[in-house]
Amino acid sequence: MTACEHIQAIGSVKTAKSYECEECVKIGSSWVHLRTCQRCGGTRCCDNSPNRHASGHARATDHPVISSAEPGESWLYCYPDDAFAES
Ligand SMILES: [Zn+2]
Ligand SMILES: [Zn+2]
Ligand SMILES: [Zn+2]
Repeated sequence: MTACEHIQAIGSVKTAKSYECEECVKIGSSWVHLRTCQRCGGTRCCDNSPNRHASGHARATDHPVISSAEPGESWLYCYPDDAFAES
């Protein structure tokens, strides 16, 4: 798999400010894995989570790329291009 132009445009990868989904916290829900938006730096939950806040945010805001916020993982993913890259 090759990185798309959105991933290639990222200089330094934003990391999670706090290890929680900022949307799930508001509604008292839970999540499976966490992803950090590389445009605004917000951390939200993955598509295995019931609320899928990270992909919902990407669609709603046109912020295409997230990084994994999971400890020990360093990769980037672009939703519109379905592109993946190690970071
Ligand atoms: Zn892309
Ligand atoms: Zn969430
Ligand atoms: Zn964002």
